[in-house]
Amino acid sequence: MPGKNDGDVDAFSQLPVGLAIAVDGLLAHVNPIAQQILEAEKPDDLLGRSLFDFVEPADLAQTQSRLRRLAVDGTPNPPTEIRLLSLRGNLRVVVASSRMYIFQGTPALMIAAHDMTRMHQIHEQLRDNEQSLRQVFESMQDVYYRTDAQGVVQMVGPGVRRVLGYEPHEIIGRKAEDYYPHPVDRDAFKQAIRDHGEVSDFPGQMVRSDGQVIDISISSHALFDENGNFAGVEGIYRDVTERKMLERELLRLATTDPLTGIANRRAFLERASEHLKHCRRYGSHLVLIILDLDHFKAINDRYGHVAGDRVLVRFVDEAKQELRETDLFGRLGGEEFCVILEQTTIEPALKTIERIQQRMRTTNFEDNGERYTVTVSAGGTENLPEDANIERLLERADKALYQAKNDGRDRTAWYQE
Ligand code: GH3
Ligand code: MG
Ligand code: MG
Repeated sequence: MPGKNDGDVDAFSQLPVGLAIAVDGLLAHVNPIAQQILEAEKPDDLLGRSLFDFVEPADLAQTQSRLRRLAVDGTPNPPTEIRLLSLRGNLRVVVASSRMYIFQGTPALMIAAHDMTRMHQIHEQLRDNEQSLRQVFESMQDVYYRTDAQGVVQMVGPGVRRVLGYEPHEIIGRKAEDYYPHPVDRDAFKQAIRDHGEVSDFPGQMVRSDGQVIDISISSHALFDENGNFAGVEGIYRDVTERKMLERELLRLATTDPLTGIANRRAFLERASEHLKHCRRYGSHLVLIILDLDHFKAINDRYGHVAGDRVLVRFVDEAKQELRETDLFGRLGGEEFCVILEQTTIEPALKTIERIQQRMRTTNFEDNGERYTVTVSAGGTENLPEDANIERLLERADKALYQAKNDGRDRTAWYQE
């Protein structure tokens, strides 16, 4: 005689959940979704088999004890996540609940299971993604950061420990400019973000927790809220101190004369051209003077090249004493030097050169037991409105120098038409 609940079975079959009925622990009924979950082609593949054949071994003990408890006190088991193994041996994750039931007049167990396998896979995938993202984040050489519209740091990556020597929580809630040696420098960055919405390899400096100033490079973009209002900045910065130092060193090597440490010919002419351009724009004066050591070849011949080098270095030291920081001083080559005195006229320029010449007259060198001095000749000119390039001034100064040499050396000649 059918039990009072039997009519429900067909109705249950329509439910969008897997449904199984077990009598004495053996499957007596499965609906199509339960079949799907367990990957059975037809109900007969499942009927008569033990419920526990399909429970993943790791979840077996827990499942058995739950069902035992249900048999004892009759209260339905609340939905619980259980791992199953399908007929094909695939792992299925279900949320299942069970209750007592009368099936065809016999006490039975009814299990309803919702297939969570797909959700579970998505979760696992997310967790994997999150983990690999975190690993990337942790090992990143760059510091990820995000600020709000007021420039207050909302988030900062762990790279900040290495780059700035702070823990992320020490940075969050502070303003980015708090870590700038010159907070106004941050304004240039903000302006660039305002103008372009993003910056790439933008230069800056920051102060480490130990007080050391480091060079950084920032790549960031502006953030906007759903109304299109500026909401902050997000990006990365990296420590480029070493690179900057290398760049500065390369620049120094490329622009200075290794013997005397002053500008080499190329660097001097480049800066001189800039000066001339500036003077042309503002109609200001500059004076260019070429200085050439007298009879230098004889010094080399008599005392050797090393002694000659010493003279060159000493000459540069003496000349520097008479020049200002703003004057341009370079070695054109050999024993030929050039000075540009800015915003000056012939008279004061002549005085400066005369002082340099006087220093050399009284600077004694000693080699091979002989004391000697080395004199300097100079040729000068000043810029004319029609001078389009620095070479014009060099040509005139060179002519004047030739004149000074001809006139007996150790003197200065001014260019005359
Ligand atoms: P003047 O008074 O007409 O200028 O005669 P000078 O002998 O000084 O001129 P000259 O151009 O004939 O000789 C310049 C010498 O400078 C020739 C070269 O060997 C020497 N010289 C060029 N560069 C260096 C250098 O780096 N070190 C040394 N020791 N000598 C150099
Ligand atoms: Mg010479
Ligand atoms: Mg010369």
